Amino acid sequence: MSVRIAIVGTGYVGLVTGACLAELGHDVVCIDNDKQKIEALNSGRIPIYEPGLDELVSRNVQRGTLRYSLDLPASVRGRDAVFIAVGTPSHPGTDQADLRYVVAATEQVASNIDQFTVIVIKSTVPVGTNRLVQSIVERCLPEGQSAAVASNPEFLREGSAIGDFLHPDRIVFGAENEQAMAILQRIYAPLEQQGYEVLATEIETAEVIKYAANAFLAVKISYINEIADLCEAVGADVDHVATGIGLDHRIGGAFLKAGPGWGGSCFPKDTRALKATASEYVVPMRIVDAAIEANARRKDVVLKKIEAACGGSVAGKRLAIFGLTFKGQTDDVRESPSIDLVRALVERGARIHAYDPSQPAEAARLLPHICMCATPVHAIKNADALVILTDWKSFIDCDLRELSDYMADPVMVDMRNLFDEQAVRGNGFRHYVRVGRGAER
Ligand code: NAD
Repeated sequence: MSVRIAIVGTGYVGLVTGACLAELGHDVVCIDNDKQKIEALNSGRIPIYEPGLDELVSRNVQRGTLRYSLDLPASVRGRDAVFIAVGTPSHPGTDQADLRYVVAATEQVASNIDQFTVIVIKSTVPVGTNRLVQSIVERCLPEGQSAAVASNPEFLREGSAIGDFLHPDRIVFGAENEQAMAILQRIYAPLEQQGYEVLATEIETAEVIKYAANAFLAVKISYINEIADLCEAVGADVDHVATGIGLDHRIGGAFLKAGPGWGGSCFPKDTRALKATASEYVVPMRIVDAAIEANARRKDVVLKKIEAACGGSVAGKRLAIFGLTFKGQTDDVRESPSIDLVRALVERGARIHAYDPSQPAEAARLLPHICMCATPVHAIKNADALVILTDWKSFIDCDLRELSDYMADPVMVDMRNLFDEQAVRGNGFRHYVRVGRGAER
């Protein structure tokens, strides 16, 4: 049965959630206060890069189940559920999540409610936020109106967001109000009927699940990165080690890919926020602390590798950088390791020509002193080394012979282990450096 839904915040999560809920048969309006974003969407342009989103959105707009609005008051009236999917970045200068957007959105939503509505917190928020939201709702609700608050954290990954939303490992709700729970069950019934697991739990538990999951994944990556360093020292191969441990079902193979360190719009801020919550409750969070510290040090490891590959220094060298986003298949550069690494290389005197398939406009703003290239060949011409920082699938299809032919010195530092060593060397590269692989004996 169709549910009337509004989504406040039409970003990576809000737009995907809106389009997927429309696909499941609900009537969805996606709201944002960014005029440019709503105008782009209304003129048929998707403001983010996310595989498959274009088709999903246009199909649902055409069949009338998805629309956009700048007018929050009008758009939340007559809705059974309003999802809040606004950003929760780190508070400037602290580890805590900045809840100002959640608070503002809640105030705006609650004061415009005209029938029973469940306000669903989709944003990643620290423990206690749903209760805070509940108190804001009570303060702002028009007289005679009623509403309930529910937590429904989101686990999608940028780059595979639609598949993750429509084929989730689990759906988590935290709600105390029965009417709210019933509406959430109606919203997710099409997925539950397909056998996807629904976990209904206390509000605080739902809030902790999201942070505990993200921090665990960050720990896994920091762990395999340190194992990669050990592999290099002892002459082992981290990819084989990852396969060897990942085949153990108790461990699992996902998130065991060594690389330049984790980043993005979630892990850094969410691990910091988890630490902040734990410290507020005087609970040690030593493992997460260590994962954060290991990740911060990862950049030095990567820089040293690049410098060593360039003969000890990058000063005056022309470097081709492939990949500016925090991972492949997205245009998101928030806390991307590539951005910090490129800045550090520029500081050390390198001249950077960067190519990223998503052509992220934000990267050009963050890195004004580098040359942004529209094609791999443009970036690689006369380069003294090629450095691969992001695992874009399209890099694997590059013609290695063509790349090496264009370079001044055919050296490759592959921080994602995308290529086969034999193939790289067989196609004209004189030097190939990868992650977590000891020197040939
Ligand atoms: P985003 O920055 O892409 O989108 C947030 C949107 O909210 C922006 O378009 C902004 O203009 C809009 N907004 C802010 N205040 C508003 C208001 N009062 N009214 C209307 N619109 C408003 O952020 P995101 O990446 O989609 O993340 C949203 C939340 O989801 C965060 O809490 C994040 O931690 C969580 N999350 C993100 C991901 C991810 O992969 N990006 C995955 C799971 C969870």
